[in-house]
Amino acid sequence: MHETGLAEAIVSAAVRRAAGRQVTGLRVRIGGHAIDPDVVTQGIQVAAAGTVVADSTVDLVLEPMTVRCHECGRSGPVRDHLAMVACPQCGGVDIDVSGSDDVVLESITVNSAELGAV
Ligand SMILES: [Zn+2]
Repeated sequence: MHETGLAEAIVSAAVRRAAGRQVTGLRVRIGGHAIDPDVVTQGIQVAAAGTVVADSTVDLVLEPMTVRCHECGRSGPVRDHLAMVACPQCGGVDIDVSGSDDVVLESITVNSAELGAV
């Protein structure tokens, strides 16, 4: 599944950045996708098992894409896939979708107490 590959990519990026240190927290920014945060969090936790990222808390920052309708002028975040096809207010299909659909590992928190032991 798409979410699984996503989670594995995030975990491997975190492992590289941690450079052997124990990770206690991940901050992940998800743009665009109307995805279930719980699915992503679980996927990350599964992918993290057995790595330095295991047992870290996952903090997801969701940034939905924005749709602007040329017919009624409505603009707002996309909350479901349908809103990327037609305007939720007037049903118009003359819409612009803006925003990024990047998934970025924004930051990690490492257990600094472990630093001296490495
Ligand atoms: Zn509209």
